Amino acid sequence: MLKYRKGLSDMPAYDVAERDWRLKLNANEAPTSLPPLVEERVMSRLSRVAFNRYPNQEMADIIAQVASNYSLREEQIFFGNGSSEIIEKLFFAFGGSGRSIVYPEPSFSMYRIYVKTADANGVPVGLEEDYSLDREKFVRAVRESKASLAVICTPNNPTGNLISLSDIEYIAQNVDCALLVDEAYLEFAGEDASAVPLLKKYPHLIVARTFSKAYGLAAARVGYMMADASIVEMTKKAFMPYHLNVLSLVTADIVYQMRDDFQPRIYMLRDECRRVNETLKGFPGLTVYPSCTNFILLKYAKAVELNEYLTELGIGVRSFGSAPRLENCLRVSLGTREENDVWMKEVKRFIEEKG
Ligand SMILES: *Cc1c(COP(=O)(O)O)cnc(C)c1O
Repeated sequence: MLKYRKGLSDMPAYDVAERDWRLKLNANEAPTSLPPLVEERVMSRLSRVAFNRYPNQEMADIIAQVASNYSLREEQIFFGNGSSEIIEKLFFAFGGSGRSIVYPEPSFSMYRIYVKTADANGVPVGLEEDYSLDREKFVRAVRESKASLAVICTPNNPTGNLISLSDIEYIAQNVDCALLVDEAYLEFAGEDASAVPLLKKYPHLIVARTFSKAYGLAAARVGYMMADASIVEMTKKAFMPYHLNVLSLVTADIVYQMRDDFQPRIYMLRDECRRVNETLKGFPGLTVYPSCTNFILLKYAKAVELNEYLTELGIGVRSFGSAPRLENCLRVSLGTREENDVWMKEVKRFIEEKG
Protein backbone atom coordinates (compact mmCIF):
# COMPACT_ATOMS: atom_id res chain seq x y z
CA MET A 1 0.00 0.00 0.00
CA LEU A 2 1.41 3.35 -0.97
CA LYS A 3 1.04 5.86 1.81
CA TYR A 4 -0.08 9.09 0.17
CA ARG A 5 -0.59 12.29 2.08
CA LYS A 6 -3.86 12.32 4.06
CA GLY A 7 -6.74 13.82 2.11
CA LEU A 8 -5.00 13.59 -1.28
CA SER A 9 -7.20 10.78 -2.61
CA ASP A 10 -10.33 12.81 -1.83
CA MET A 11 -8.97 15.87 -3.59
CA PRO A 12 -10.69 16.65 -6.89
CA ALA A 13 -8.45 16.86 -9.95
CA TYR A 14 -8.58 20.01 -12.08
CA ASP A 15 -10.97 18.39 -14.52
CA VAL A 16 -10.41 19.68 -18.00
CA ALA A 17 -11.35 17.15 -20.66
CA GLU A 18 -8.95 18.32 -23.36
CA ARG A 19 -8.86 17.17 -26.94
CA ASP A 20 -8.02 18.68 -30.30
CA TRP A 21 -10.83 21.22 -30.43
CA ARG A 22 -11.83 22.85 -33.69
CA LEU A 23 -12.78 25.83 -31.59
CA LYS A 24 -11.26 25.94 -28.10
CA LEU A 25 -13.41 28.14 -25.89
CA ASN A 26 -13.07 26.43 -22.53
CA ALA A 27 -10.12 28.08 -20.75
CA ASN A 28 -10.52 31.82 -21.33
CA GLU A 29 -7.37 31.94 -23.41
CA ALA A 30 -6.71 34.62 -26.03
CA PRO A 31 -7.91 33.55 -29.49
CA THR A 32 -4.61 34.41 -31.21
CA SER A 33 -0.91 34.19 -30.30
CA LEU A 34 1.32 37.22 -29.75
CA PRO A 35 1.12 40.27 -32.03
CA PRO A 36 3.79 39.76 -34.74
CA LEU A 37 6.00 42.65 -33.58
CA VAL A 38 5.97 41.38 -29.99
CA GLU A 39 6.75 37.83 -31.12
CA GLU A 40 9.69 39.08 -33.16
CA ARG A 41 11.21 40.83 -30.17
CA VAL A 42 10.55 37.86 -27.89
CA MET A 43 12.31 35.49 -30.29
CA SER A 44 15.29 37.78 -30.61
CA ARG A 45 15.54 38.11 -26.81
CA LEU A 46 15.23 34.34 -26.33
CA SER A 47 18.17 33.78 -28.68
CA ARG A 48 20.37 35.73 -26.24
CA VAL A 49 19.45 33.72 -23.11
CA ALA A 50 22.31 32.19 -21.12
CA PHE A 51 20.85 28.71 -20.76
CA ASN A 52 23.57 27.54 -18.38
CA ARG A 53 22.77 30.15 -15.71
CA TYR A 54 20.04 30.23 -13.09
CA PRO A 55 17.75 33.23 -13.59
CA ASN A 56 19.18 36.24 -11.82
CA GLN A 57 18.43 39.76 -13.01
CA GLU A 58 15.36 38.84 -15.12
CA MET A 59 12.78 38.90 -12.34
CA ALA A 60 14.17 42.22 -11.05
CA ASP A 61 13.79 43.72 -14.54
CA ILE A 62 10.11 42.93 -14.88
CA ILE A 63 9.40 43.88 -11.26
CA ALA A 64 10.99 47.29 -11.97
CA GLN A 65 8.60 47.80 -14.89
CA VAL A 66 5.47 46.95 -12.87
CA ALA A 67 6.68 49.05 -9.91
CA SER A 68 7.16 52.06 -12.14
CA ASN A 69 3.79 51.59 -13.85
CA TYR A 70 1.87 51.55 -10.55
CA SER A 71 4.19 53.76 -8.46
CA LEU A 72 4.90 50.92 -6.07
CA ARG A 73 8.20 49.91 -4.44
CA GLU A 74 9.98 46.94 -6.01
CA GLU A 75 9.72 45.09 -2.68
CA GLN A 76 5.92 45.14 -3.12
CA ILE A 77 5.91 42.91 -6.20
CA PHE A 78 6.65 39.24 -6.78
CA PHE A 79 6.21 36.94 -9.79
CA GLY A 80 5.13 33.32 -10.01
CA ASN A 81 4.26 30.55 -12.47
CA GLY A 82 0.93 32.05 -13.37
CA SER A 83 -1.19 33.78 -10.76
CA SER A 84 -2.12 30.17 -9.90
CA GLU A 85 1.21 29.73 -8.15
CA ILE A 86 0.87 33.13 -6.47
CA ILE A 87 -2.58 32.20 -5.16
CA GLU A 88 -1.47 28.73 -4.09
CA LYS A 89 1.51 30.14 -2.14
CA LEU A 90 -0.66 32.78 -0.49
CA PHE A 91 -3.05 30.03 0.63
CA PHE A 92 -0.03 28.15 1.96
CA ALA A 93 1.37 31.25 3.68
CA PHE A 94 -1.90 32.13 5.42
CA GLY A 95 -3.25 28.57 5.72
CA GLY A 96 -2.35 25.53 7.77
CA SER A 97 -4.43 23.57 10.23
CA GLY A 98 -6.94 25.58 12.23
CA ARG A 99 -6.88 28.48 9.74
CA SER A 100 -9.92 29.52 7.72
CA ILE A 101 -9.92 30.93 4.20
CA VAL A 102 -13.06 32.67 2.92
CA TYR A 103 -13.95 32.90 -0.77
CA PRO A 104 -17.08 33.50 -2.87
CA GLU A 105 -19.10 30.73 -4.49
CA PRO A 106 -19.36 30.35 -7.39
CA SER A 107 -15.92 31.66 -8.24
CA PHE A 108 -12.56 30.33 -9.48
CA SER A 109 -12.75 26.56 -8.92
CA MET A 110 -9.13 26.32 -7.78
CA TYR A 111 -9.69 28.23 -4.50
CA ARG A 112 -11.40 25.15 -3.10
CA ILE A 113 -8.47 22.96 -4.12
CA TYR A 114 -5.76 25.32 -2.80
CA VAL A 115 -7.58 25.42 0.53
CA LYS A 116 -7.14 21.64 0.72
CA THR A 117 -3.46 21.65 -0.29
CA ALA A 118 -2.87 24.35 2.33
CA ASP A 119 -4.54 22.13 4.97
CA ALA A 120 -6.88 25.00 5.78
CA ASN A 121 -10.60 25.21 6.36
CA GLY A 122 -12.55 26.55 3.37
CA VAL A 123 -15.45 28.93 4.03
CA PRO A 124 -17.42 29.53 0.81
CA VAL A 125 -19.77 32.53 0.81
CA GLY A 126 -22.68 32.15 -1.59
CA LEU A 127 -23.17 34.92 -4.14
CA GLU A 128 -26.68 36.35 -4.54
CA GLU A 129 -29.24 35.22 -7.12
CA ASP A 130 -27.73 37.56 -9.78
CA TYR A 131 -24.20 36.48 -8.71
CA SER A 132 -23.45 39.80 -7.03
CA LEU A 133 -21.43 39.75 -3.80
CA ASP A 134 -23.24 40.81 -0.61
CA ARG A 135 -20.42 42.70 1.12
CA GLU A 136 -22.02 42.55 4.58
CA LYS A 137 -22.51 38.80 4.31
CA PHE A 138 -18.90 38.39 3.16
CA VAL A 139 -17.51 40.48 6.03
CA ARG A 140 -19.67 38.54 8.50
CA ALA A 141 -18.31 35.21 7.21
CA VAL A 142 -14.73 36.48 7.59
CA ARG A 143 -15.35 37.63 11.15
CA GLU A 144 -17.32 34.59 12.27
CA SER A 145 -14.74 32.15 10.93
CA LYS A 146 -11.86 34.30 12.29
CA ALA A 147 -10.35 33.84 8.83
CA SER A 148 -6.66 34.40 8.12
CA LEU A 149 -7.27 35.05 4.42
CA ALA A 150 -10.26 36.30 2.43
CA VAL A 151 -10.38 36.11 -1.36
CA ILE A 152 -12.49 37.98 -3.89
CA CYS A 153 -12.28 37.75 -7.65
CA THR A 154 -13.08 40.78 -9.82
CA PRO A 155 -14.28 40.49 -12.50
CA ASN A 156 -15.45 37.14 -11.14
CA ASN A 157 -14.76 33.88 -12.96
CA PRO A 158 -17.08 32.25 -14.15
CA THR A 159 -19.88 34.79 -13.66
CA GLY A 160 -18.19 37.73 -15.43
CA ASN A 161 -19.38 40.49 -13.11
CA LEU A 162 -17.31 43.18 -11.45
CA ILE A 163 -17.15 43.94 -7.72
CA SER A 164 -17.33 47.71 -7.28
CA LEU A 165 -14.32 49.52 -5.82
CA SER A 166 -16.50 50.84 -3.01
CA ASP A 167 -17.47 47.26 -2.09
CA ILE A 168 -13.82 46.19 -2.15
CA GLU A 169 -12.87 49.15 0.03
CA TYR A 170 -15.76 48.41 2.41
CA ILE A 171 -14.51 44.83 2.81
CA ALA A 172 -10.91 46.04 3.29
CA GLN A 173 -12.10 48.43 6.01
CA ASN A 174 -14.09 45.80 7.84
CA VAL A 175 -11.80 42.78 7.88
CA ASP A 176 -8.35 42.66 9.44
CA CYS A 177 -7.09 39.44 7.85
CA ALA A 178 -5.20 39.38 4.54
CA LEU A 179 -7.54 40.24 1.65
CA LEU A 180 -6.60 38.89 -1.78
CA VAL A 181 -8.20 40.48 -4.84
CA ASP A 182 -7.79 38.17 -7.84
CA GLU A 183 -7.76 40.44 -10.90
CA ALA A 184 -7.12 37.81 -13.59
CA TYR A 185 -9.50 39.57 -16.03
CA LEU A 186 -9.04 43.16 -14.90
CA GLU A 187 -7.58 44.37 -18.22
CA PHE A 188 -10.92 43.67 -19.91
CA ALA A 189 -12.82 45.79 -17.39
CA GLY A 190 -10.21 48.58 -17.49
CA GLU A 191 -7.65 49.83 -14.96
CA ASP A 192 -10.26 52.05 -13.30
CA ALA A 193 -11.79 48.92 -11.77
CA SER A 194 -8.53 47.82 -10.15
CA ALA A 195 -7.92 47.65 -6.39
CA VAL A 196 -4.23 48.57 -6.88
CA PRO A 197 -4.66 52.23 -5.75
CA LEU A 198 -6.09 50.91 -2.46
CA LEU A 199 -2.77 49.18 -1.64
CA LYS A 200 -1.38 52.45 -0.25
CA LYS A 201 -4.21 52.72 2.26
CA TYR A 202 -4.69 49.07 3.25
CA PRO A 203 -1.50 47.12 4.11
CA HIS A 204 -3.46 43.86 4.41
CA LEU A 205 -4.59 44.04 0.77
CA ILE A 206 -3.04 41.84 -1.96
CA VAL A 207 -3.71 42.07 -5.70
CA ALA A 208 -2.97 39.14 -8.06
CA ARG A 209 -2.62 39.56 -11.83
CA THR A 210 -1.84 37.23 -14.71
CA PHE A 211 -0.33 37.36 -18.20
CA SER A 212 -2.45 34.38 -19.27
CA LYS A 213 -5.68 36.11 -20.24
CA ALA A 214 -5.54 39.63 -21.72
CA TYR A 215 -1.86 39.27 -22.70
CA GLY A 216 -2.39 35.84 -24.25
CA LEU A 217 0.66 34.32 -22.55
CA ALA A 218 -0.96 31.23 -21.01
CA ALA A 219 1.79 28.99 -22.41
CA ALA A 220 4.51 30.83 -20.46
CA ARG A 221 2.73 30.65 -17.04
CA VAL A 222 3.42 34.12 -15.62
CA GLY A 223 1.51 35.99 -12.93
CA TYR A 224 2.35 38.33 -10.07
CA MET A 225 1.24 39.80 -6.79
CA MET A 226 1.29 43.35 -5.48
CA ALA A 227 1.05 43.92 -1.73
CA ASP A 228 2.72 45.48 1.27
CA ALA A 229 6.46 44.64 1.31
CA SER A 230 6.06 42.62 4.53
CA ILE A 231 3.47 40.30 2.92
CA VAL A 232 5.71 39.82 -0.13
CA GLU A 233 8.72 39.09 2.07
CA MET A 234 6.87 36.40 4.05
CA THR A 235 5.10 34.80 1.07
CA LYS A 236 8.38 34.57 -0.89
CA LYS A 237 9.58 32.01 1.66
CA ALA A 238 6.98 29.55 0.34
CA PHE A 239 8.55 29.49 -3.15
CA MET A 240 11.39 27.25 -4.24
CA PRO A 241 14.62 28.92 -5.41
CA TYR A 242 14.60 30.10 -9.04
CA HIS A 243 10.98 28.98 -9.37
CA LEU A 244 10.22 31.01 -12.48
CA ASN A 245 12.27 30.06 -15.53
CA VAL A 246 14.17 32.62 -17.55
CA LEU A 247 12.32 31.88 -20.82
CA SER A 248 9.01 32.89 -19.25
CA LEU A 249 10.54 35.88 -17.46
CA VAL A 250 12.13 37.48 -20.53
CA THR A 251 9.01 36.78 -22.60
CA ALA A 252 6.78 38.47 -20.02
CA ASP A 253 9.27 41.35 -19.74
CA ILE A 254 8.89 42.13 -23.44
CA VAL A 255 5.13 41.61 -23.42
CA TYR A 256 4.87 44.10 -20.56
CA GLN A 257 7.11 46.63 -22.35
CA MET A 258 4.86 46.31 -25.39
CA ARG A 259 1.55 46.06 -23.54
CA ASP A 260 0.05 48.95 -25.56
CA ASP A 261 0.22 46.66 -28.60
CA PHE A 262 -2.36 44.42 -26.89
CA GLN A 263 -4.96 47.16 -26.44
CA PRO A 264 -6.61 46.65 -29.87
CA ARG A 265 -7.19 42.97 -29.01
CA ILE A 266 -8.57 43.84 -25.61
CA TYR A 267 -10.97 46.37 -27.20
CA MET A 268 -11.98 43.80 -29.83
CA LEU A 269 -12.88 41.26 -27.12
CA ARG A 270 -14.72 43.92 -25.13
CA ASP A 271 -16.80 44.80 -28.21
CA GLU A 272 -17.40 41.13 -28.91
CA CYS A 273 -18.57 40.62 -25.35
CA ARG A 274 -21.21 43.31 -25.86
CA ARG A 275 -22.23 42.01 -29.29
CA VAL A 276 -22.45 38.35 -28.19
CA ASN A 277 -24.49 39.34 -25.14
CA GLU A 278 -26.93 41.34 -27.28
CA THR A 279 -27.25 38.53 -29.84
CA LEU A 280 -27.80 35.75 -27.32
CA LYS A 281 -30.43 37.75 -25.46
CA GLY A 282 -32.73 37.09 -28.41
CA PHE A 283 -32.41 33.28 -28.08
CA PRO A 284 -35.50 31.76 -26.41
CA GLY A 285 -34.91 30.01 -23.09
CA LEU A 286 -31.32 31.20 -22.78
CA THR A 287 -30.20 33.33 -19.82
CA VAL A 288 -27.09 35.42 -20.54
CA TYR A 289 -25.22 37.04 -17.66
CA PRO A 290 -23.63 40.46 -18.16
CA SER A 291 -19.84 40.22 -18.40
CA CYS A 292 -16.89 42.58 -18.59
CA THR A 293 -14.37 39.87 -19.41
CA ASN A 294 -13.35 37.67 -22.34
CA PHE A 295 -15.96 35.02 -21.50
CA ILE A 296 -19.68 34.81 -21.06
CA LEU A 297 -21.84 32.65 -18.76
CA LEU A 298 -25.01 31.11 -20.15
CA LYS A 299 -27.80 29.27 -18.39
CA TYR A 300 -30.05 26.95 -20.32
CA ALA A 301 -32.36 24.14 -19.20
CA LYS A 302 -30.78 21.69 -21.65
CA ALA A 303 -27.18 22.84 -21.03
CA VAL A 304 -25.89 19.27 -20.73
CA GLU A 305 -27.31 18.32 -24.14
CA LEU A 306 -26.17 21.61 -25.67
CA ASN A 307 -22.64 20.94 -24.38
CA GLU A 308 -22.70 17.43 -25.90
CA TYR A 309 -23.90 18.87 -29.20
CA LEU A 310 -21.09 21.45 -29.28
CA THR A 311 -18.49 18.86 -28.22
CA GLU A 312 -19.58 16.63 -31.10
CA LEU A 313 -18.87 19.55 -33.44
CA GLY A 314 -15.40 20.07 -31.93
CA ILE A 315 -16.43 23.21 -30.07
CA GLY A 316 -15.08 23.08 -26.52
CA VAL A 317 -16.83 25.19 -23.88
CA ARG A 318 -16.67 24.90 -20.09
CA SER A 319 -19.46 23.10 -18.31
CA PHE A 320 -19.51 22.87 -14.54
CA GLY A 321 -21.18 19.54 -13.91
CA SER A 322 -22.80 19.65 -10.50
CA ALA A 323 -20.78 22.58 -9.10
CA PRO A 324 -22.93 24.55 -6.63
CA ARG A 325 -24.97 27.37 -8.18
CA LEU A 326 -23.74 26.54 -11.70
CA GLU A 327 -26.27 23.87 -12.63
CA ASN A 328 -27.18 24.11 -16.33
CA CYS A 329 -24.52 26.76 -16.90
CA LEU A 330 -21.93 26.91 -19.65
CA ARG A 331 -19.02 29.33 -19.80
CA VAL A 332 -17.88 30.25 -23.28
CA SER A 333 -14.57 32.05 -23.85
CA LEU A 334 -14.84 34.71 -26.52
CA GLY A 335 -12.92 34.30 -29.73
CA THR A 336 -12.62 36.45 -32.84
CA ARG A 337 -15.79 37.82 -34.38
CA GLU A 338 -15.82 34.99 -36.95
CA GLU A 339 -15.33 32.34 -34.24
CA ASN A 340 -18.11 33.80 -32.12
CA ASP A 341 -20.43 33.73 -35.12
CA VAL A 342 -19.63 30.03 -35.57
CA TRP A 343 -20.51 28.92 -32.04
CA MET A 344 -23.51 31.24 -31.73
CA LYS A 345 -24.92 29.83 -34.96
CA GLU A 346 -24.64 26.32 -33.52
CA VAL A 347 -26.31 27.36 -30.25
CA LYS A 348 -29.12 28.88 -32.29
CA ARG A 349 -29.50 25.73 -34.37
CA PHE A 350 -29.61 23.56 -31.24
CA ILE A 351 -32.32 25.70 -29.67
CA GLU A 352 -34.39 25.73 -32.87
CA GLU A 353 -34.11 21.99 -33.48
CA LYS A 354 -33.93 20.46 -30.01
CA GLY A 355 -34.77 23.20 -27.54
C1 LIG B 1 -7.10 31.97 -15.19
C2 LIG B 1 -7.25 32.42 -13.79
C3 LIG B 1 -6.18 32.48 -12.87
C4 LIG B 1 -4.84 31.91 -13.08
O1 LIG B 1 -4.26 32.06 -14.24
P1 LIG B 1 -2.75 31.70 -14.44
O2 LIG B 1 -2.69 31.20 -15.82
O3 LIG B 1 -2.33 30.70 -13.42
O4 LIG B 1 -2.03 32.98 -14.25
C5 LIG B 1 -6.41 32.99 -11.62
N1 LIG B 1 -7.61 33.40 -11.24
C6 LIG B 1 -8.66 33.34 -12.06
C7 LIG B 1 -9.97 33.81 -11.59
C8 LIG B 1 -8.52 32.84 -13.35
O5 LIG B 1 -9.60 32.74 -14.14
